[in-house]
Amino acid sequence: MPFDLDMIKAVYKALPARVEEARKTLGRPLTLTEKILYTHLHPESPLQNYSRAKDYVFFAPDRVAMQDATAQMALLQFMMAGRDNVAVPSTVHCDHLIQAEEGAAQDLAKANDVNKEVYDFLSSVSNKYGIGFWKPGAGIIHQIVLENYAFPGGMMIGTDSHTPNAGGLGMVAIGVGGADAVDVMAGMPWELKMPKVIGVKLTGKMSGWTSAKDVILKVAGILTVKGGTGAIVEYFGDGAESLSCTGKGTICNMGAEIGATTSTFGYDEAMGRYLRATERAEVADLADGVKEHLTGDAECYANPEKYFDQVIEINLSELEPHINGPYTPDLAWPISKFAQAVKENNYPQKLEVGLIGSCTNSSYEDLDRAASLARQAVDKKLKVKSEFTVTPGSEQIRFTVDRDGQLQDFEKMGGVVLANACGPCIGQWARHTDDPNRANSIITSFNRNFSKRNDGNPQTRSFVASPEIVTAMAIAGDLTFNPLTDTLKNENGEDVKLDPPTGVELPAKGFAVEDAGFIPPAADGSGIEVKVDPNSDRLELLTPFKPITQEQLKGMRLLIKAKGKCTTDHISMAGPWLKYRGHLDNISNNCFIGAINFFNGEMNKVANYVDSEDEAEYLGVPDSARKYKAAGISTVVFGEENYGEGSSREHAAMEPRHLGVRAVIVKSFARIHETNLKKQGMLALTFVNPDDYEKVRQDDKIDILGFNEMAPDKNLTVKLHHKDGSTEEFEVAHTYNQAQIDWVSAGSALNKIREELAS
Ligand code: SF4
Repeated sequence: MPFDLDMIKAVYKALPARVEEARKTLGRPLTLTEKILYTHLHPESPLQNYSRAKDYVFFAPDRVAMQDATAQMALLQFMMAGRDNVAVPSTVHCDHLIQAEEGAAQDLAKANDVNKEVYDFLSSVSNKYGIGFWKPGAGIIHQIVLENYAFPGGMMIGTDSHTPNAGGLGMVAIGVGGADAVDVMAGMPWELKMPKVIGVKLTGKMSGWTSAKDVILKVAGILTVKGGTGAIVEYFGDGAESLSCTGKGTICNMGAEIGATTSTFGYDEAMGRYLRATERAEVADLADGVKEHLTGDAECYANPEKYFDQVIEINLSELEPHINGPYTPDLAWPISKFAQAVKENNYPQKLEVGLIGSCTNSSYEDLDRAASLARQAVDKKLKVKSEFTVTPGSEQIRFTVDRDGQLQDFEKMGGVVLANACGPCIGQWARHTDDPNRANSIITSFNRNFSKRNDGNPQTRSFVASPEIVTAMAIAGDLTFNPLTDTLKNENGEDVKLDPPTGVELPAKGFAVEDAGFIPPAADGSGIEVKVDPNSDRLELLTPFKPITQEQLKGMRLLIKAKGKCTTDHISMAGPWLKYRGHLDNISNNCFIGAINFFNGEMNKVANYVDSEDEAEYLGVPDSARKYKAAGISTVVFGEENYGEGSSREHAAMEPRHLGVRAVIVKSFARIHETNLKKQGMLALTFVNPDDYEKVRQDDKIDILGFNEMAPDKNLTVKLHHKDGSTEEFEVAHTYNQAQIDWVSAGSALNKIREELAS
């Protein structure tokens, strides 16, 4: 059994007293979100009433999950922490690197070949450090977490934005960057701004064509893609209890589309049933024993306006199926209005492909209900008009629906079953089309539908709906079809109507699987060698960064003075560079290539003065950085407001560090990026007077003074030596506490941990 019963027992044992302490400290009833957060405070954040949306708090999550694309750099970094084992239960899931092309077996075989070095690395490092490894084909991270690891009242982080899926089992599960995973696996506290709490009260009961997916499609329409930012969404009410556990998972999964930190539901009977069906009766029994602590206090739900920052109410009895899109998941259309929207907006009416499954919607219930429509297509002699694919979320689900016949139902209607992996959801889709640039429509039961996400074609209009609606639309092949009201012509020329989908929540014969794809780590990994081919261009073992010295901070050169917005995408672009995420030197060739140079308004063209003090040589930013580094000259980066916003990817801090940048000096930082710079042992500084940004000239030599005396709340001084012989000085501030200054002194946070473990 891969789950950690002892850890869960320990959490539940401490839970009643910790909830009571938190309730006393806050002096009021608690939402479920608060119960989970306050019972997971790290000792570095003492129990006190933290202000929502204001205070930064350290937490101690119970577990970590990583997918194969993000795990590479996270684990390369973790290896430098000098630990024998991960500090909390952790898992790696090989799901993102499998391309969908022919079908499950062929695609998996190809992925095993193409990605062999990455898989070998991930499996060996997992084996060595006590990390559970889910091999390619085992399934998608979030489905596997729900089936095996999620538990009510727990807190986890995962290096993927749809980690909130585990909220379906009552967790606070948050998607993070690799650097956060390293913190938690290395035993460091994990920091988060205390979130706001949005309450969604669900009343009534769904019926007919409506499914759990429609709840989140509706919520996305209400809150928009930004409405959940900085908040945890907590669902409650009798309607919430009427939903299956996996339905709740779907809702929480897609909470990422409204920008929410995560979403969660209180523990209820549906969760208990799911735990028992997935062979975790012990967890269900334990949860039953503390169930009043695994949901919000009754008073919070009776008077939600008093305890939540925002309250939304949805009556499930009145909820229509929705179709959201194209290009954004918050463009929500009730099915009754969709045909009109298609016509008014000239969306291509012909539906080319319907795709069901993914981490969002491949529960037994989802596939069983969708299969009921597939059977109808065959029975009613309907010729299926669109291509149709099915992506099971895990081998356990695939095996079970194969045994129970749903897969055959899909195949009979012309469906192709893809590997248990992300595939088309993340653009890993070699789509069969005669014209890859044509304007066309597809519909999926996935979560995201941004331009180009599925097939790389900006002309593809991708819509998101429930698996039931996707299946019905694929049968019709026409976006203006409304399965609730419209008929279709069958092969005999008769008008037939699809009956509402039917299906069960859980398999009557239980789940089954022959090889779930889990490889437990070695009990003692000390003798295991981590496999990295020294000639690989995708993976490279890291070398610890050397600490910065005061000497290096004299006579530095400007690498780039970035103008305007400089997000982590500008600093470390994604797209084709994803391939190099495990190879710091190779991915550093994208460093700052998207940032605008203040002095010429261009991207990836900066002045370099290594060869001549008088005449600038214009180079790409990475080339310029490498040239300075080779000449032993340190560099500085200047920027404007909210520098480093966007994704939390640690590459945006590691690449400049690797290329010899010592300090980043900006008007203001996005908090996560600022912390990432600190962790990598760099100087993250802000202008005391933002106008000093204007003083920096591209041919300056730059000193940072006061480094050796660096202390919390003590400013440093920047001295600019202009080419005309004049100098200017200004103060720069920082937010390093003493522990973070120690990271800089050690070269990085991981170096510091290694030193501490060795002493
Ligand atoms: Fe992300 Fe899609 Fe994979 Fe889910 S199936 S983890 S949303 S890429």
